[in-house]
Amino acid sequence: MSLEELKYGSDVFNEQAMREYLAKDTVETLLHTMRDRAPLDPSIANEVAHALKQWGMARGATHFTHWFQPLTGSTAEKHDAFYEPAGMAETIARFSGKNLIMGEPDASSFPSGGLRCTFEARGYTAWDVTSPAFIKRHSNGATLCIPTVFCSYTGEVLDKKTPLLRSMQAMDKAVQKLMACFGETGGHADITLGAEQEYFLVDKALWAKRPDLMQCGRTLVGAPPARSQLSEDHYFGSIKPRVLAFMEEVEQELWRLGIPAKTRHNETAPAQFELAPMFEELNLAVDHNMLIMETLRNVAERHGLVCLLHEKPFAWVNGSGKHNNWSVAYKGRNLLDPGSNPQENAIFLAVLASVVRAVDLHADVLRAATASLGNDCRLGALEAPPAIVSIFLGDELTGVIRRLEQGGGEATRGRAEKLRIGVDTLPPIPRDTSDRNRTSPFAFTGNKFEFRAPGSSQNCSGVCMVLNTMVAESMEVLAAAIDKLPKRRFHEGLERVLRAVFRDHGRVIFNGDGYSEAWVAEAKKRGLPNLRNTPEALACQITDKNFELFAKMGVLTPAELRSRHDVFLAEYERKLGIEAKVLQEMVRGRVIPAIEAELRRLAETWQALGILKLSKSAEAMHARAEALDEKLQKVAEGSDALARAMAGKHPDDIVAQMQRLRHVVDCAEGLVSDDLWPMPKYRELLAMN
Ligand code: ADP
Ligand code: MG
Repeated sequence: MSLEELKYGSDVFNEQAMREYLAKDTVETLLHTMRDRAPLDPSIANEVAHALKQWGMARGATHFTHWFQPLTGSTAEKHDAFYEPAGMAETIARFSGKNLIMGEPDASSFPSGGLRCTFEARGYTAWDVTSPAFIKRHSNGATLCIPTVFCSYTGEVLDKKTPLLRSMQAMDKAVQKLMACFGETGGHADITLGAEQEYFLVDKALWAKRPDLMQCGRTLVGAPPARSQLSEDHYFGSIKPRVLAFMEEVEQELWRLGIPAKTRHNETAPAQFELAPMFEELNLAVDHNMLIMETLRNVAERHGLVCLLHEKPFAWVNGSGKHNNWSVAYKGRNLLDPGSNPQENAIFLAVLASVVRAVDLHADVLRAATASLGNDCRLGALEAPPAIVSIFLGDELTGVIRRLEQGGGEATRGRAEKLRIGVDTLPPIPRDTSDRNRTSPFAFTGNKFEFRAPGSSQNCSGVCMVLNTMVAESMEVLAAAIDKLPKRRFHEGLERVLRAVFRDHGRVIFNGDGYSEAWVAEAKKRGLPNLRNTPEALACQITDKNFELFAKMGVLTPAELRSRHDVFLAEYERKLGIEAKVLQEMVRGRVIPAIEAELRRLAETWQALGILKLSKSAEAMHARAEALDEKLQKVAEGSDALARAMAGKHPDDIVAQMQRLRHVVDCAEGLVSDDLWPMPKYRELLAMN
């Protein structure tokens, strides 16, 4: 099929569509806003709205919606019809510049973390001109979607996109300052993201028999399948026809939306897969990842499948992550590409130093940005990066930095291995060899950083917002130091600045095995934080250091940061509460009755040993379910949820108690006959045929 036949980008209001539907001047004004981030000229809004309506209706859209990303982590939309009644039996299609630029969804049902009281529930959506409008198709029609930001009446952010855009602005400013130190001016920073998406597929009929999968997106019980069923040839093996048919339909939908889905393959676990798009400008890439997740879910339905985006749908098998490949370019050149001349190398090292400094100083917030109940099951479980944030640079680049650290100063002047960044060029860094260490959460992979801790279901904007903010802060600090250097001996001065950064922050660099016990001890010695679960990690968001960081960079006010923290913590507690309840229901409503049925069967055939084993198991189950009740009860009676969680006590307690209960259930699974076990087992769920 040609690109034409694939209708690549046919459902996006892209440049081609603009040229078809808008006057030439308007196109230029709009493109100027999109590309150069110029303020939107309100005088063109009506014309653009009219064009969007014509374009959308020509593609079957009957409604429009402001598409936004509230703190729930998903996307939200409220549809309005283009058509309005205009007297007797008549309708006219209306969509004005005002409708385009601003919307007023009923915001009271979206979490705000106390920023917006319900009596002042108004929230506003405002057009994000930098992400083009697109068409969403469904079985009976289509909707024109306008990407928007979502804020309160008083202008406080209620969504994930606004801080992302603010952080991109902060990066833009900082990159410009840093580049100016090297005599480069007049350009903008382009931050890029390629988000690799992992997911599981299960048969819908089996899924419907599992309350845990239906309500929590993951299995809460389930014994490990026999080893032979975890086929090791799944990874990169040939893709089964049913799955391939699903993937092809996903890709066709994504291509219509102008989303560059590029690779598809089986992942390490059975029934696990990955979709990776080509990287794009960050804001667009984030929107596109949200659409990728939605498309995966919707298309799966049509194939009798369910797409599980949860970080850990199954115990005993690998969980799913979302590798965020992040980089920054200036005037079209990737600044994380080591480059081929002294000037480029010097810039590369300055950017690298900024990242190293940022990750060392703010590992806690970066970790917190990945924190969720689902991701807690995955991080640090010897299948995903540990909860300790460190940077992998590879031996060659680390060698370069070590030489830089050792060099300089009168005493070492004559040394042969000394690196002179103004004179020497870096040794070429082969991309592939730098990507071998899969145990690192934050790896330099030749020309970008790959952050592997984010969970598969997360909106990328959270981690990227944090990454931008902290790197921008470091760049500002470096730029200020470099700017003060005398021009005469610039390169020597630059070396001194960089050397100091690597000396002070090099402890965050670790090229070894991130899964090993030794690393946990070593990281502790180095003073790196190890935030093992969500309450611990979230507590780190609201420290003076971090309030100051986000306020200083103009990304989040202290009130906004605190509100986010409160929302995420409440979300964690809400989900944990649901999981505990579903587990109790499954144990009491299904598992225990099945055990009783098995016991009756055993009694009929006088199988004393079996009866003994199984009744012991039932007894333990009752006791552990009761213990879980008690813990839940205590939490419900407790005072302020926030204080409890910050004390780091109760969630751990509940998680641990659920684990204990699960353990007896999983043991019982082997003692009850297949025909009596009340739900599909792992071997059925994981056999994707
Ligand atoms: P992996 O070995 O982890 O599968 P790939 O080489 O396939 O990695 O690339 C992973 C992702 O990195 C892709 O989405 C790719 O587009 C993205 N990527 C490549 N270059 C950049 C860049 N400069 N900025 C951001 N992402 C990038
Ligand atoms: Mg990867």
